[in-house]
Amino acid sequence: MAAERVTILGSTGSIGVSTLDVLARDPERFEVYALTASASVEKLAEQCLACRPAVAVMMEPEAGAALRDLLQRAGVATEVRVGADALAEVASAPEVDVVMAAIVGAAGLLPTLAAAEAGKRLLLANKESLVMSGALLIDAVARSGAKLLPVDSEHNAIFQCLPEGYTCGEPVRPSGAERIWLTASGGPFRDRPLDRFHEITPEEACAHPNWDMGRKISVDSATMMNKGLEVIEARWLFALEPEAIQVVLHPQSIVHSMVAYADGSVLAQLGNPDMRTPIAHALAWPRRMGSGVSPLDLFAVGRLDFAPPSSERFPCLDLAYRALKTGGTATTVLNAANEVAVQSFLDRRIRFPAIADLIAATLDAVAAGPADSLEGILAADAQARDYAGHWVTEHGTGP
Ligand code: NAD
Ligand code: MG
Repeated sequence: MAAERVTILGSTGSIGVSTLDVLARDPERFEVYALTASASVEKLAEQCLACRPAVAVMMEPEAGAALRDLLQRAGVATEVRVGADALAEVASAPEVDVVMAAIVGAAGLLPTLAAAEAGKRLLLANKESLVMSGALLIDAVARSGAKLLPVDSEHNAIFQCLPEGYTCGEPVRPSGAERIWLTASGGPFRDRPLDRFHEITPEEACAHPNWDMGRKISVDSATMMNKGLEVIEARWLFALEPEAIQVVLHPQSIVHSMVAYADGSVLAQLGNPDMRTPIAHALAWPRRMGSGVSPLDLFAVGRLDFAPPSSERFPCLDLAYRALKTGGTATTVLNAANEVAVQSFLDRRIRFPAIADLIAATLDAVAAGPADSLEGILAADAQARDYAGHWVTEHGTGP
């Protein structure tokens, strides 16, 4: 069988690096077609040296020139392209079979859509694209016959707990599934006294107790907006109404999520918290492959705890449900406001509790419209970013 050719969008990030680690375990089956990164020239050069892709993409011309130079000197024939259009090209090129969508944030939307429209096997880590434009992405998948496989550990777990033959984007109810339990670790601040939340630093927020991730998703996990985005992601992947998606705190991060069926059965997927498991599952599906993840030692784990999340501690979770219930572009607005808020917090322009305040203010200020066109989605995204930017200037602590 010919090797499957893979594009990794965001190959230098946490998910990208784990994907390359898993791919290298079956070089007969997988070949890398393209790698992409925003600005980390040296890291991308190293990756090109190791797996010799046909194409590498950088976002800025200077970074592209620097990469071209490094590769030439190392005698690597990889073609270097630059800019957002090049991302969409390598996501939809006829040479490509599999696309790992692992760019962080709204920047991932257009190449992810391009892969969906081109009918690729689409491994989705970039949850923001479903939050911004779930209907468009799911429609594109259905129209083109693309195969959508969730990489986010919770959604991958749910997918594994659904019957064989189930296709993401279709309603799960006909299979007897009635409810989804999305597990959440609660992040680094699940026990911190609420009156000390204003002291939280970016360094503390990025130090997750169980998972090693990029900075944006680490902050999202600390506010639990990550779980809010995942509720919205689950709504689109599994076509379930918000009331049937329940978040449960589970500090050990061993049960990655659960599906409750009409007969009272609850199916769960368990494993050590290591993204190489869902990545390997999505890559090898419907088969299985080694991932390098150590086997789960239940005696070492000892116990599994579950508790309801607190709205007072995690207001972002309620904001996500609110946007989902409003519908249309409200979740696009939520996502954009969150991206601005997280970046402003990382830049020390706003304090941790202001992340939720800023998102709430943006949801109040920017009216939701229909989410049935890319133009409408991009306009809502821009409007929300604009409002949120002004909010930071007005209420922030300065640059
Ligand atoms: P990361 O910050 O570690 O990596 C992001 C990648 O995207 C890098 O390769 C970077 O160069 C690229 N990138 C960043 N901005 C870009 C831009 N404007 N244009 C083009 N490329 C850009 O992020 P991550 O933790 O790997 O997360 C990636 C995605 O996967 C996110 O959507 C995240 O929510 C999702 N996800 C991550 C994890 C995890 O454990 N890290 C788990 C589940 C889902
Ligand atoms: Mg997740």
